[in-house]
Amino acid sequence: MTSGNAPYAARDLAHVWHPCTQMKDHEQLPMIPIRRGDGVWLEDYDGKRYLDAISSWWVNLFGHANPRINAAVREQLESLEQVILAGFTHEPVIALSEALTALAPPGLTRCFYADNGSSAVEVAVKMSFHYWRNCGRTQKRRFITLTNSYHGETLGALAVGNVDLYKEIYQPLLMDVISVPSPDCFERETGESWAEHSRRKFAAMKAALAAHAHEACAVIVEPLVQCAGGMRMYDPVYLTLLRAACDRHQVHLIADEIAVGFGRTGTLFACEQAAIRPDFLCLSKGLTGGYLPLSTVMTTDAIYAAFYAEYTKLRAFLHSHSFTGNPLGCAAALASLAIFRDDHILERNRSLAAHMGARARELEDHPHVAEVRQRGMIVAIELTPNKATREPYPWTERRGLTIYQHALRCGVLLRPVGNVVYFMPPYVITPAQIDLMVEVARAAIELATCD
Ligand code: PMP
Repeated sequence: MTSGNAPYAARDLAHVWHPCTQMKDHEQLPMIPIRRGDGVWLEDYDGKRYLDAISSWWVNLFGHANPRINAAVREQLESLEQVILAGFTHEPVIALSEALTALAPPGLTRCFYADNGSSAVEVAVKMSFHYWRNCGRTQKRRFITLTNSYHGETLGALAVGNVDLYKEIYQPLLMDVISVPSPDCFERETGESWAEHSRRKFAAMKAALAAHAHEACAVIVEPLVQCAGGMRMYDPVYLTLLRAACDRHQVHLIADEIAVGFGRTGTLFACEQAAIRPDFLCLSKGLTGGYLPLSTVMTTDAIYAAFYAEYTKLRAFLHSHSFTGNPLGCAAALASLAIFRDDHILERNRSLAAHMGARARELEDHPHVAEVRQRGMIVAIELTPNKATREPYPWTERRGLTIYQHALRCGVLLRPVGNVVYFMPPYVITPAQIDLMVEVARAAIELATCD
């Protein structure tokens, strides 16, 4: 029997190739093996605990080892772990589809399942393209996307995303997309409101739609917050304008709520804040409370109908993943939705969000903080070497890594995106834990910017 972190870290580094990691960094950076999770806490084999301020890559909603979700998964495990979803079905996927249809913007009545976020984006992209083909609009084959957007790592999802760090090297493999400047409100003029800025930035989208509608299948956006792009935020008015323009030009709207869905922005779905219904709504991450890999693309009867025909017409959507609609994932998702309902989570989150925002805004006066911004349960702190110009630190300086390491030493898991320190904690966090998280972030920022 081995004990402590070291033996696990050594075994790990002998064989595991980690995601989104320069493995050479681990010559200096200790690998942290996690033995157990409990609420907001992760505990390693040395017995050290870390407050999971980023919900383990934005997935966890109600804490690790949540008793209610555990019980639901355990119960499901006793009867059915997995079954093919072509030709067969099961009660959890039926109940989940009914529940999601009741909760999502009205009219999203059809749920197509996959098993991760990128796959959901692939599904939405393929479905939109295929819909127009089935309608005889074969010239529609391109997608309109925002700069600084992120939609996943598979080739289709990467193509419709826009973060160079992840995309540039693979460019020769990717389909060509139409990029429109992001409405990102960090770039607003002095004195300009978020709504004014978002409205002004819509001019470029309006022009792109006018120019490309004949060849465009869909516009894809992350509603309200571009998460991987540094938690850059914009006003709901942009989505309202976008919905109307897409309708006018007969272009689909794909809302990628993989990161922002399930209460992160303050409402169950971010689209609600603009009172819009997308043609495709992509969900994953928090769908299962962050427990299991599952995703779904919700769409309308009208789109479904365009695929519904005699088999020999070859109109069907012949896309599949082995673990599509996995019963354990669906059971976790149903338990997570029950917690939302029974515990009035969205209402309770309002006071947590107010506390988190107020504490984080105390950093606004810091000489190296360019902005503190918030949308619901997402708070971001943008760092800069120069408060007047608000320029970024050169990426090669890796200031975020200093913050990550210092926070870990203090027992908080923060994982800055570039120059942006952010909080996206599980909803079971307490005000005292928020205080700890913000204090540790403040000290880490101090350390990373003191030169
Ligand atoms: N879309 C968005 C908005 C995301 O934030 C992510 C993941 N960070 C994805 C898609 C991809 O999801 P996955 O990592 O499950 O493939």
